[in-house]
Amino acid sequence: MKILVANLGSTSLKWRLFDFAVGQERLLHKGGFERVADYAQAIEDCLAELKRSGAIQHESELAAVGFKTIMARGINGCVRLDQQVLQAMEFYNQIAPAHNPPYVTGIRLFARRMPDTPLIGLFETAFYQWAPEAAMRYAVPQAWHELGVRRWGFHGASHKFIAERSAELLGREDVALRVRQLYVDGGRSPVRQPELRVISCHLGGSSSVTGILNGVAIGNSLGMSPQSGLPQNNRVGDLDAFALPFLMRTARLTLDEAERVLCQESGLKALSGGANDIRDIQAQAAQGDPRAQLALDTLVHQARHWIGAFHLELNGADALVFTAGIGENQTRIRQAICAQLEQLGIALDSAANDRVRAQESVISTPASRVKVMVIPTNEELVVAREAKRLLENSKN
Ligand code: ADP
Repeated sequence: MKILVANLGSTSLKWRLFDFAVGQERLLHKGGFERVADYAQAIEDCLAELKRSGAIQHESELAAVGFKTIMARGINGCVRLDQQVLQAMEFYNQIAPAHNPPYVTGIRLFARRMPDTPLIGLFETAFYQWAPEAAMRYAVPQAWHELGVRRWGFHGASHKFIAERSAELLGREDVALRVRQLYVDGGRSPVRQPELRVISCHLGGSSSVTGILNGVAIGNSLGMSPQSGLPQNNRVGDLDAFALPFLMRTARLTLDEAERVLCQESGLKALSGGANDIRDIQAQAAQGDPRAQLALDTLVHQARHWIGAFHLELNGADALVFTAGIGENQTRIRQAICAQLEQLGIALDSAANDRVRAQESVISTPASRVKVMVIPTNEELVVAREAKRLLENSKN
């Protein structure tokens, strides 16, 4: 069964094609286009490239196209992307302005181009459906809560991948199985004692930290929108709600302008004075630019803040996992996040940390009570697996 997973940005289209046979998962092709001006043409070019590579002869071989969709009103989990779901996504366009509109547009174009192929979305909020309510609640009136003003949590595909893979690497097949079954039975599969406690740090263009107990998320640093939590590349991260009315009244900012700045001119970009890629910020800091150093320090501080929160909630941790572009590759950021945590049982092995880039590895000392690990994430595989499951279940 071949499943294409499409990652849609406002000006980019990236994809991975997976082939599932009995007991086997294979990546057949991956590719992408940046600076896309004509999205319909980009879809055409993607299909042409899949055919040219020999991965498919014809698009009718695709059992489904899967999407890592962000959020929709009243809809969670893994679903067929029909008109009703797309409208529910549009309802939250303003909460996820960098994500939902390009997804809705792109999915409609896929539907037009491939009307007979199932289009399936795995919502990024799906992994947090079983988090304790107190962890997901804002202290707002009930009517606001019902409109969606609550913590949702995002990066669900990535943190779910880490939940499963870390359990496998830690020899806890019982927990890995529980994660695999999570969207089927809501975490009812039994697990052995002791409890498995994992803190997953997805640090990349956007970043979040999640606590995972026996394979199930207990919360996430991202709140109502993908602009919250840690400072993101150009999106704000956590901000006191009263800043907005203050700026609108005092600095005479319009709502549209405030929204644009919070989504495009904030985060690491604002702190560093313009750069939003960690490599550029590090180069600037190495030249002695204090703003760039502050951007790095703030990211590290916020990551530690959330790691601390989940460490407490989990009553300790068995593993602290780093993933995504920064988490997998940035040795100095990992070093800074793990500095002086010996009392919490976290002791990084500096030599191992310096060596490891984008490969599965333990980077803590043998004496460290908490295993610090690097695990490259694979969000697209999680989407493809769930899409496959949905197709199989809808046949039965
Ligand atoms: P996105 O969240 O957009 O998918 P990534 O997970 O690729 O992005 O993370 C992007 C961030 O990771 C950037 O700040 C970039 O500097 C950093 N990064 C990505 N790859 C590397 C690498 N090979 N070495 C160092 N830093 C990297």
